[in-house]
Amino acid sequence: MADKSTSSEPITAVQPAEGAAAAPRKIYTIVKYGDPVLEKPAATVKKFDADLEQLVDDMFASMYAAQGVGLAAPQVGKSIRLTVIDVSNGKHPEAKIVLVNPEIIDAEGEVREEEGCLSIPGFRGYVIRPQFVTVKAQNVKGDPFEIRGENLLARAFCHEIDHLNGVLFLQHLSMLKRDLIKRKIKKLRKEGEW
Ligand SMILES: [Zn+2]
Repeated sequence: MADKSTSSEPITAVQPAEGAAAAPRKIYTIVKYGDPVLEKPAATVKKFDADLEQLVDDMFASMYAAQGVGLAAPQVGKSIRLTVIDVSNGKHPEAKIVLVNPEIIDAEGEVREEEGCLSIPGFRGYVIRPQFVTVKAQNVKGDPFEIRGENLLARAFCHEIDHLNGVLFLQHLSMLKRDLIKRKIKKLRKEGEW
């Protein structure tokens, strides 16, 4: 979700940290706004295999490399209902959340907070999201579970599940703010900087 970087890295293999699994992680280039994969609904995940586990590990690595707190599969060019979230920025291993085929089943309250997106680097805007969100999902093995999030985590759930439905945070901004950002991106693209 929120980003601190303004550029995405080319695809490179990095060595895992000490004690991590032996396979080098693939760092994906994050797809930017304008790519149609970001604006179409993603497909339900039906196969829970080693490839899915590998993708989850690579998505976490890519998210940390980009200093994000959430990353949805369409943002790495894969139109499937999978997202990874870690609002601790990699500080707490237990904060790593994998949601496969997630669905919001309950939402309460409202919080207006600034939001950003790794696919729309350099732009932020205020978005109203629920304060508490309960999500029903499957883990990487296919087992169903429910998880409740508050504040930033609730926001991350909403933002990432939006991605799986082809919705970007821009769609929650006022038309004025949204058009302003779109115009600036258009200009950047013309200058070859997007
Ligand atoms: Zn995003």
